[in-house]
Amino acid sequence: MQTIGLIGGMSWESSAEYYRIINQETNRRLGGVHSAQSLMWSVDFEGIKRLQHEGEWEKLADAMKEAAIRLERGGADFIILCTNTMHRLADAVSSAVNIPLLHIADPTAEQIKASGFERVGLLGTAFTMEQEFYKGRLQQRHGLDVLVPDEDDRRVVHEIIYKELVLGQVRPESRQAYRDIIARLIERGAQCVILGCTEIMLLVKDEDSAVPLFDTTTIHAVAAVDRALQSA
Ligand code: GLU
Repeated sequence: MQTIGLIGGMSWESSAEYYRIINQETNRRLGGVHSAQSLMWSVDFEGIKRLQHEGEWEKLADAMKEAAIRLERGGADFIILCTNTMHRLADAVSSAVNIPLLHIADPTAEQIKASGFERVGLLGTAFTMEQEFYKGRLQQRHGLDVLVPDEDDRRVVHEIIYKELVLGQVRPESRQAYRDIIARLIERGAQCVILGCTEIMLLVKDEDSAVPLFDTTTIHAVAAVDRALQSA
């Protein structure tokens, strides 16, 4: 079994989900009392959030590179970055180490294509919904047509993530707001929706949407197990 290196803490609420899913999935496949071999470097999210909102991506790249180097030194065989947003720095992280980084958008897109969908709605932080690093990868590398909510809805999605979900707060009124935003994406032609922020799965479940939801936390965690068990 390979050792999974997790860069976590963004937020720890979703990192805890990664840890749970990775161990449950490993046990489901191997039985007995099997669990995953893993290392997590978990950051203090306060400083990360501040630098994101100040646009200090160089400083954030340094923090992510340092985390990756720590995991490599600790014996990780590959790395997963447990946040969609910080994949803006995926290339910087990859270049800092000699072990691979399993990009969150790739297994997500593969599952969407295998399900026969082409037109996807994307929910995530403003960084993920508005910048090219994520949408661009889905479009150029995977040929998907990506729809994001309008400006007001993007603001609501973003605020709920940073003010509630990263603190583990799950509010019925916020769930309703997400349901309405998903419904508007469907009206515009979305055949499915990517939960492109690793905390959204805490709030929104399959029954909140009339089209299939692709939860990046679960997909990424299971992809890490696939890789870790490849040679088992
Ligand atoms: N976990 C989130 C994501 O998947 C947001 C927190 C962050 O900014 O890293 O994008």
